[in-house]
Amino acid sequence: MSKKYVYVWNNRRVEGNAKMKDILGGKGANLAEMALLGLPVPPGFTISTEVCKYYWDNGMKLPDDLKPAVEQAMHELEEVLGKKFGDNDNPLLVSVRSGAAVSMPGMMDTILNLGLNDVSVQGLAKQTNNERFAWDSYRRFIQMFGDVSLEIPHAKFEEALNKVKREKGVKTDIELDAEDFKKVVELYKKIYQEEGKSFPQDPMEQLWISIEAVFRSWNNPRAIKYRQINKLDDKNFLGTAVNVVAMVFGNMGEDSGTGVVFTRDPSTGEKKYYGEFLMNAQGEDVVAGIRTPQPLDELKNIMPDVYKELTEIMDKLEHHFRDMQDIEFTVERGKLYILQTRNGKRTPAAAVKIAVALVKEGLINKQEAVMRVDPADIEKLLHPVFDPEELKRAQYIGKGLPASPGAATGKIVFSAEEAEEMAKKGEQVILVRPETSAEDVGGMNAAQGILTNRGGMTSHAAVVARGMGKTAVVGAENILIDLKNRLIKANGVVIKDKEWISIDGNEGKVYAGKVKTIRPEGLAGELATLLDYADEVSDLGVRANADVPRDAKVAREYGAQGIGLCRTEHMFFGPERINKMRRMIVSKSEEQRRKALEELLPYQIEDFKGLFKEMEGFSVTIRLLDPPLHEFVPETDEQIKELAKTLGITEEELRQTVKELEEFNPMMGHRGVRVAITYPEIAEMQTKAILLAAIELMKEGKKVHPEIMIPLVGNVKEFTILKDSITQIADELIKEHNVDLEYKVGTMIEVPRACVVADQIGEQADFFSFGTNDLTQLGLGFSRDDYGKFINDYIEKGIYEKDPFQHIDREGVGKLIKIALDGGRSTNPHLKVGICGEHGGDPESIEFAHLVGLDYVSCSPYRVPVARLAAAQAAAKYKRGKKVNY
Ligand code: PEP
Ligand code: MG
Repeated sequence: MSKKYVYVWNNRRVEGNAKMKDILGGKGANLAEMALLGLPVPPGFTISTEVCKYYWDNGMKLPDDLKPAVEQAMHELEEVLGKKFGDNDNPLLVSVRSGAAVSMPGMMDTILNLGLNDVSVQGLAKQTNNERFAWDSYRRFIQMFGDVSLEIPHAKFEEALNKVKREKGVKTDIELDAEDFKKVVELYKKIYQEEGKSFPQDPMEQLWISIEAVFRSWNNPRAIKYRQINKLDDKNFLGTAVNVVAMVFGNMGEDSGTGVVFTRDPSTGEKKYYGEFLMNAQGEDVVAGIRTPQPLDELKNIMPDVYKELTEIMDKLEHHFRDMQDIEFTVERGKLYILQTRNGKRTPAAAVKIAVALVKEGLINKQEAVMRVDPADIEKLLHPVFDPEELKRAQYIGKGLPASPGAATGKIVFSAEEAEEMAKKGEQVILVRPETSAEDVGGMNAAQGILTNRGGMTSHAAVVARGMGKTAVVGAENILIDLKNRLIKANGVVIKDKEWISIDGNEGKVYAGKVKTIRPEGLAGELATLLDYADEVSDLGVRANADVPRDAKVAREYGAQGIGLCRTEHMFFGPERINKMRRMIVSKSEEQRRKALEELLPYQIEDFKGLFKEMEGFSVTIRLLDPPLHEFVPETDEQIKELAKTLGITEEELRQTVKELEEFNPMMGHRGVRVAITYPEIAEMQTKAILLAAIELMKEGKKVHPEIMIPLVGNVKEFTILKDSITQIADELIKEHNVDLEYKVGTMIEVPRACVVADQIGEQADFFSFGTNDLTQLGLGFSRDDYGKFINDYIEKGIYEKDPFQHIDREGVGKLIKIALDGGRSTNPHLKVGICGEHGGDPESIEFAHLVGLDYVSCSPYRVPVARLAAAQAAAKYKRGKKVNY
């Protein structure tokens, strides 16, 4: 039996359903599902994504048994509709539409009105009793077919159409009649000739060429770019499906129309019917933003019955798919058709609001809710807003639709390429266009924000910007965009190319000049609720890397459950401390060093008290001094002079000491626990400070849970030497102050040797915290500071799939982690284990942490919400301990 490539749906039978997205694509699968639900969808069939894969795997050739299957499906379509392909009385017309498993709006090609030729155009005229409509449809088809299928430049057709308008002395298409469109058709055919192409009169030939063109469009540059930007790995997709659907016309007169609706507001997530439509228009007119559409509410007055039916269908679809739907519809002479439904793209804010609302409405559970929001969107939600003080002084110049929230400021550029170029140089830009199209996607991604003066809330600019989480203001009609002179004019203000503007995507307002943006503080409303759901679902704790009380405060507000890493080295750079630190470092004797340390002690006590206070009730992991001492030495002549004076030595002597501290390879030199092995008094001072801070607060009735962490341990003896000293000091202080303070002593695991001997270390330690930055550096032998020079070559050549410093290299570093974990837990079942390298805030690495069974991750305060959601998603997707890929 030959392979099944074609799946039909009509009022007699339906072969697909919503679960078959991989082979039918999203559009095809949902059309079939809607047909199963008995909704008014025009009949048609889907050619599966497997054909696309076959096409690209076989030198752009279609499988042999496709043709009979498509012919059979076309027959069935003719039968159910009682129409004939190419007929001169009652012709069947179809659209040919792309549709991959993941929606890629506008990236691939679509052809409408297919089946029209010199004969069937007469048929369409008779059938509709509208000759003008028939010839307009015909010329649109010739144009689209030429442009999409045969790659004839679009501009040539535009020029021909303009010529006819010029000769008639009119400005718009609406003023042209049937005779004019006949002339346009003749001119279009001439263009084909000039291009050495012919326009096929045989509808079946038109169909084949178009089907192939859609498969070809899977790999057009903008589709490839879209997949790159959206991190849609080509390997996960077979390709696009092709949907052949009976045409319905929204441009058959004033009782026809077309529109796009959402079951909830895609911008805010509010539960209300939302959308736009155009009377007497074809679908592409709405999306392209050529005419400004009317809000959905007005349909209630124009066609109350259609409005009622449409909103009932919207409810039904949202319930059925259990998510907000984005629905395309057409009304042909008063009859409603649904052309597409899909889970609607939405802003990050709307995604959160909708996920929480759906839980409250009982449509989804909390696990599903956490899967509905992309962790990267959470970051965008903590979007910048304009500094209110600066905003008071800003010069308001106009307003458009608030298409995608946030506040953005940048230099204006008028083309996508320029936006990309400038962004590469690190410049902030706002892309200004009359409207955008798929070609602009790269530039939109590179820009801080997008401003257009045409189009509605469902225009290309609006939809794409929302998807990207980019600030956008669209349809700002009072802002004149002069592409020729590269300037914009509004409200009497002229802003030239590369001058600054600021746009507010929440209110749709535009300001001249640069307005500072700030990040909002804390979590509120539905986001807080969603992240509470996340914590319920998740198996991982999320802590923050914080060195100062301010960061600890942010971390708490964002829901961190403690501090996983306090890098104490940052505490010694304050103006009143650095000299004391330097004195300590260049000391020639232990006595001198202890004296300097004694002076640093009170500062450290205050530092730790600040952190413990902010994190009251949670664990605070404080790492003993880690970097090479050389990082603290004086650099400038002035600094040398000043320090030499306080030390009572000559500048020359001091320079000599500094030189002695220099190392060839400081990251593998005298740093981490090694400093404490040589100079135990440094760790002693820090231990004392940690304990005294904790004791003081305990006496005030506060709950403190200090954890002392030793960096860069590679040998259990390093650990035990330090641990003995720490416990001796701590126990003495606790006894002296007579408090009941519990503390923990643990280690960073960031040296590969430590992973291998983790059973020995685990026996001694209360906790492990993987320093995945150093573990990656030492595991791969890639310098953290230099790998940028060659990593792209490695990724391009597929040696490493991704940057291992951003996403854990599961098969290498991941395996080291697993070895360490198994070793540590084998001797200490109570060992607490986390990650505190940069990977702790990366969703992919967090998934790994969940899978191997760590207790927590620790990341920068601003990433805490992202990490909470990512941890929940990992738990919702995978049971713990599932076999990890390494
Ligand atoms: C690490 O190495 O992952 C780590 C957290 O320590 P640092 O980045 O301070 O070396
Ligand atoms: Mg480290």
